[in-house]
Amino acid sequence: MHKVGVIGSGYVGLVTAVCFAELGNKVICVDNDKEKIKKLQRGAIPFFEPGLEELVSKNRKAKSLVFSSNIKDAVTASEVIFICVGTPSNEDGSADLSAVEKVSMEIAKSMKEYKVIVEKSTVPAETGEKITRTIEMYRARKIDFDVVSNPEFLREGQAIHDTFHPDRIVVGVENPRAERIMRELYRPLKAPVIVTNINTAEIIKHASNSFLAVKISFINAIANLCDRLNANVDQVAEAMGMDSRIGRAFLNAGAGYGGSCFPKDVEAFIYLASQKGYDFELLKSVKRINEGQKTILFNKIKDALWIIKNKTIGILGLSFKPDTDDIRSSVAIEIITKLQEAGAKIKAYDPQAVAKAKEKLSGVDFCRDAYETAANSDCLVIVTEWDEFRNMDLMKIKRLLRQPVIIDGRNIFKSSKMKQLGFTYKSIGRGL
Ligand code: NAD
Repeated sequence: MHKVGVIGSGYVGLVTAVCFAELGNKVICVDNDKEKIKKLQRGAIPFFEPGLEELVSKNRKAKSLVFSSNIKDAVTASEVIFICVGTPSNEDGSADLSAVEKVSMEIAKSMKEYKVIVEKSTVPAETGEKITRTIEMYRARKIDFDVVSNPEFLREGQAIHDTFHPDRIVVGVENPRAERIMRELYRPLKAPVIVTNINTAEIIKHASNSFLAVKISFINAIANLCDRLNANVDQVAEAMGMDSRIGRAFLNAGAGYGGSCFPKDVEAFIYLASQKGYDFELLKSVKRINEGQKTILFNKIKDALWIIKNKTIGILGLSFKPDTDDIRSSVAIEIITKLQEAGAKIKAYDPQAVAKAKEKLSGVDFCRDAYETAANSDCLVIVTEWDEFRNMDLMKIKRLLRQPVIIDGRNIFKSSKMKQLGFTYKSIGRGL
């Protein structure tokens, strides 16, 4: 049993905290958002993540997981402290590490004995060195500590499964004492542990996310070629993916990636490279292709409707991907804003993300389901590939729409089936 402190109770922090608690550790989870902590202390979960509520409730009752809005509580009570705060983009594309710095200072001021301080937030290489320097500057006296990089690879929507069944655990550590503690902490998961120096671990995270973004932009580039050549990108991806050297994952053509990780991590990696004198042209292209996919979706809507002004457009999906309510850098939000600027009236629905979207968008008629969204709309646009949309009654949708027009930004239906049902159906990379 270890005493674990987790600072930042967002998607990563809360999941990390509850999973360590479930594995038999005593965990204290902190956030500087007092409202969030009050909610958590009442047993409410501030965001949607399948299975999370039950697990938090179980571990709260067992007192293996407690919440606080005071970092000092976590530092005093714990030997290992995970930093899980946000690292969003600055204007210039670099990672905004101000929360990481602030937390490091506060940890330093509260330390009274040896601590392992673990950066789990996604950060650029050399952040570990900066955390070390900050703690040395702000600690009250020469208390011993180690900084470890332990990047997180969970996927929102499957975060608990991913935390209990990771493909690998990366530990960037430069002292055997901290390595032993980290190995013990992760031993119950029986997953491969890759031990590296701190810079290497930090690069592994940025390299992994950037590579996934490369795959998405690559297949989108192929999709754009398929559209010009009357070929089908789904079949290209299927056949490519059967090659074990390539793999099928992340070869889904569509309106591009969004979310709180890929866009900012690609940006931060490009920025880090340029700071070190390397022009990461490949990633610049990946970013450009991704931006272009949103314009391609917009133009497909425009092609189908001719004039956008005063048309009613039904949007299906607001979250950046299915099974989450996270709308950070969501393609849907960008598309809606662009369509509103062009004079469209927007109706929209998402199985989980409506509440968050309401805080971000104005002038949108939010609906209770796909059918209400389709009713009297001039077309329906699929932006997030929720299973609920795959399973909807298409004949009912057709009856409700003013015109049977569907623009599918995620290729969830077969073109031949949609044609057979009498839809004007446009998707990404399925030919002319
Ligand atoms: P999030 O915004 O959901 O959570 C961050 C939390 O940190 C918030 O609750 C915020 O209030 C809190 N916080 C900020 N400053 C604080 C401070 N000074 N003291 C205490 N708490 C503070 O973010 P997230 O999605 O959990 O991401 C956290 C980090 O993990 C980021 O670096 C992200 O890139 C990385 N990551 C995210 C995912 C993901 O799928 N969300 C996956 C892997 C890695």
